[in-house]
Amino acid sequence: VKKIAVLTSGGDSQGMNAAVRAVVRSALFNGLEVYGVQRGYQGLINDDLRSMDLRSVGDIIQRGGTILQTARCKEFLTPEGQQRGADILRARGIDGLIVIGGDGSYQGANKLSKLGIKTMGLPGTIDNDISFTDFTIGFDTAVSICVDAINKLRDTMTSHERSSVVEVMGRHCGDIALYAGLASGAETIIVPEVPYDIDAIAGRMRENFQAGKRHSIVIVAEGAGNGQEISEAITARNGIEPRVTVLGHIQRGGTPTHNDRILASKLGDFAVQRLMDGDSGKACGIIDGVMTATEIDKVVNAKKPFNMDLYNLALRLSQ
Ligand code: ATP
Repeated sequence: VKKIAVLTSGGDSQGMNAAVRAVVRSALFNGLEVYGVQRGYQGLINDDLRSMDLRSVGDIIQRGGTILQTARCKEFLTPEGQQRGADILRARGIDGLIVIGGDGSYQGANKLSKLGIKTMGLPGTIDNDISFTDFTIGFDTAVSICVDAINKLRDTMTSHERSSVVEVMGRHCGDIALYAGLASGAETIIVPEVPYDIDAIAGRMRENFQAGKRHSIVIVAEGAGNGQEISEAITARNGIEPRVTVLGHIQRGGTPTHNDRILASKLGDFAVQRLMDGDSGKACGIIDGVMTATEIDKVVNAKKPFNMDLYNLALRLSQ
């Protein structure tokens, strides 16, 4: 490959900019030409591409969001839309594309790969719901934001001897709730992967308060339940009225942590290398410290295994 392009797609996440920067700088370092596609697959179909130089990615490593912007594009779900995307890249002489996004974005990259464009996917999503990588770009920052918010809630809860239900993101994957829950000492972690028993949760909360605990945190992943409903169900059982906080989109904003920046930098550089080696239709990740590129078909069809050891540890430590 001589000319490559990079785009961000689907929901944004912190560290996407660091990944774009790594792709651009690594490509230029290796003598490639590199283009940025604006607004994901929508921009690709609209031929909204610009040439990137070293300075075009200056001062972005620390910024949340994505300078390339992102979009969801219905037209790209059709074979005609995908063909149009491939034709536009080919007309510009671009033979490689790096897609930073989630599951859906990966599938788009796979389609382009089958149309002869060399593609690589990078896991850009806060949910950590992508298989064949231990962590996705943005996850570490999202967890830190949750932990920081829970620290603040704890201060006021302890003063008033209260409990809190905190709803965090995670539609199919409870990792944000799990990691934030363990790191902030939550009493209960509710995730889509593990069935929960509201009677047991309410009973344990009452016993813990009776035994002298001065605050109690229930953290729930949005895909496992609604914070308000869980709070009401607890009140109906034990009379305690947990305050509900829904963290929402603040979890997707703000400056990326050093972990996310380093993950993005490593993966961006790795994806460029793989394209230069002629690889295509793969998703990049780091598993146990080792960089890997796995067939996209395999990645999108695999359910990420839930870390039960970590979940059980959190339970043991939260008595
Ligand atoms: P997140 O999980 O953060 O929402 P995502 O990448 O999964 O990110 P999607 O909205 O699912 O977000 O996908 C982003 C875009 O990728 C879609 O708007 C569409 O243009 C393209 N896309 C999704 N699925 C496919 C598919 N099966 N084939 C081709 N393109 C797809």
